[in-house]
Amino acid sequence: MILALLLALQGPLAARPDTVTTTHDAIRYDIVIAVSDTGAHFVGEVETVWVLGSDAPVVVPLDSAMRVVRVLIDGKENTRVHRTAYGRQDNIVYIPHDKHAGDTLTTRIRYHGTARAGLVVRIDSSGNRTFFADNWPDRAHLWLPVQDHPSDKAEVNFRVEVPLDLQVIANGTLIKVDTLARNRAAWQYRLSTPIPPSNFVFGAAHMAVTPLTPASCTLPCVPQAAWSYPQDSAYAAQAFSVAPGIVEYFSQIIGPFPYPSLAHVQTSTRFGGMENATAIFYAAQMYAARNVAEEIIAHETAHQWFGDAVTEEDWHHLWLSEGFATYLAALWLGHAHGDSVFQAKMQHNAETVFYQKGKDGVRVNNPVTEGPIVDTMATDLMGLLNSNNYPKGAWVLHELRGLVGDSAFFAGLQLYYSRFRNGTALSSDFARVMEEASGQQLGWFFTQALMLPGYPMLTVRWRPVGNTVELEITQVQPPAWGLRQLPKLEIDVDGKLVTVDASTSPTKVTVPVSREPTSIVVDPQHKWLLQAKVERAP
Ligand SMILES: [Zn+2]
Repeated sequence: MILALLLALQGPLAARPDTVTTTHDAIRYDIVIAVSDTGAHFVGEVETVWVLGSDAPVVVPLDSAMRVVRVLIDGKENTRVHRTAYGRQDNIVYIPHDKHAGDTLTTRIRYHGTARAGLVVRIDSSGNRTFFADNWPDRAHLWLPVQDHPSDKAEVNFRVEVPLDLQVIANGTLIKVDTLARNRAAWQYRLSTPIPPSNFVFGAAHMAVTPLTPASCTLPCVPQAAWSYPQDSAYAAQAFSVAPGIVEYFSQIIGPFPYPSLAHVQTSTRFGGMENATAIFYAAQMYAARNVAEEIIAHETAHQWFGDAVTEEDWHHLWLSEGFATYLAALWLGHAHGDSVFQAKMQHNAETVFYQKGKDGVRVNNPVTEGPIVDTMATDLMGLLNSNNYPKGAWVLHELRGLVGDSAFFAGLQLYYSRFRNGTALSSDFARVMEEASGQQLGWFFTQALMLPGYPMLTVRWRPVGNTVELEITQVQPPAWGLRQLPKLEIDVDGKLVTVDASTSPTKVTVPVSREPTSIVVDPQHKWLLQAKVERAP
């Protein structure tokens, strides 16, 4: 069964990352950032522990707006072997060394400057200076010398030096705050589990911190807090009061929360929310408008499991983050507010795949669906934040659940999390786990769900024949979208559910009836992302 699966998944689904192949493996970054007392300038020093993949130099991206002043290798200037310690070309720091594949090497880069992007310095609504990192997709190297690709996860420690009046949040656990000379303080955070570079963040601002304490925890309580601008702290405490319940629910259906704690932080992120591990950054405007939605809290929180702890190994498999977070947020809404809310959310997700608002607000077909979810031709990373990776990705999970059943689906989700936690995965890894959990061959499903554009469009023609009704199901989607296998398509004929294998087109089925049907509904439980038209045969 496993062998058959592997054969089925050869090709793009099983492909290695196709944007960046990293030579060396960054294991840990120790990041020191000292922000100036005024303005946006900062001094940085980043020590990186590498396991070398070859004798090749370490090549680290760092935006040319950052001026490098010193590079140490294993704590020393590198003049013994090479005449210069390092080279600098445009956005690259080039560090020669005399070590070999398998060796450990430590580099330390000292630099300073004002970031063009990635580290955003603003004045908040009260006139106070704020610093917030905003890295996704690959803007960490605009202010940090890091191997800026999701496949190279690493542990990260932050020491952030700020004026005394600023509070600092960063990934992981606050170890200590040291008071320094000249009214300054150093905040130290540590995270001993690897996360992707897009997640390496700190924030420094005037902040109020409100603990989010649940009434009770069935599982070990995860310490959570809302960090907000002081004037918004009462609102933040209320808006994020759902967070403990969300963490507990996802812990129950997926597995233990991956990190020691979780902060929900009001920031200047350009996204509505950004799922940085242990410190989710939300857009400040939502607080001002008093509309931080439960769905966005659930979405970003779900990313702590999928996106942060289990990270897509390459950009083109982004649905493993966004489709998962979208689906899990819908599941949370269903859990908290009832199945009809879940169903409505999934129908809304379907509509978003089918249509978008064109000019004049008129609904038009969504052009994004003309490409597959795993689109290895895509080069615009921001363009990946589209309806394929979000709502259509969510529908891949929902279809899968309908196909294998609840117990196999959730067992597979848990197995996928436990197996790839703190690592990276491709779509083929998820498919393999789901085959294992369900005992079914699913290569055909993942290939059609992830590699084909569009969705099935069905015409169901019916006509009464004696004491039966004859149904003819034809797939009428554009030929470029391909024929779909629909092995368990349900059709409700006057309240009687028949299951049809509609994988060939047309498919005919005869249903016994006592009288001419008045109601024929295709896929009444909405298990498939499809459009269907039912008509009486002429
Ligand atoms: Zn997301």
